[in-house]
Amino acid sequence: MAHYRITVDGVVHETDGKNCLIDNAGNLGMPGISASPLTSVNDGLLDVTVVRDNSISSLIAISDQMRGVEPNPDALKHWQGREIHIASDPPQGIQGDGEVWGFTPIMVKVLPGVLPIMTLPTDRP
Ligand SMILES: [Mg+2]
Repeated sequence: MAHYRITVDGVVHETDGKNCLIDNAGNLGMPGISASPLTSVNDGLLDVTVVRDNSISSLIAISDQMRGVEPNPDALKHWQGREIHIASDPPQGIQGDGEVWGFTPIMVKVLPGVLPIMTLPTDRP
């Protein structure tokens, strides 16, 4: 358990949690399964999720968020923004889009149009 101080576009949020995830695409490796229906690779926003602990209520909150149901705010916190700063006590590992990015404190920001990406139609065999 850590105490997180998370600044999202200049607004400070403080919460306790077990895990913190920053992502952009929300892809969990299975088609149609996303960390949240709000998460989009092309919305220009990063998503920050803090899971309170490893309890059943936290697992239910994660499931609720994935299904678009408002999760229990005591079990799961979620914010979206363009510039995210995360500090914690004690320092915690940070994952982004499934990769380990480092440890808190960390600053992550959206850089629009920096990475060119070519995609194929989804109906292509
Ligand atoms: Mg996004």
